[in-house]
Amino acid sequence: MKHNREVKIKDSRLRAFRNSLREILFLEWEKRSLAILDAKSKIYAADLPRDEMLKLSRELQVKLGKHHRIIMPTIIVCGWCSHRDKDAIYNPSNKQWFCPDCYREHNEDILSATSFIY
Ligand SMILES: [Zn+2]
Repeated sequence: MKHNREVKIKDSRLRAFRNSLREILFLEWEKRSLAILDAKSKIYAADLPRDEMLKLSRELQVKLGKHHRIIMPTIIVCGWCSHRDKDAIYNPSNKQWFCPDCYREHNEDILSATSFIY
């Protein structure tokens, strides 16, 4: 997508349906995030040699980072405020979706940044 694109849903039932889908996807993403964090905390609780513990911890931290970057470019969350219940505008320069409020309020920052995905 090369141009800004706004996805606006006027029908309240369709908006509710969209929001429900976003919530389901977000909850699954959150559940998997918590599973990674839980696995990481179990590493610290286990009686492992220090090198092994650090290696496993680093692997899970990388996995958590990759998992975080999965959701950021999607239309599920606003790339600025993380709201999940608003219409969305796609910004091709950083390949992210933003809610219309953030897009208008922080337009200069959004357009000048190459990415908000860390
Ligand atoms: Zn926003």
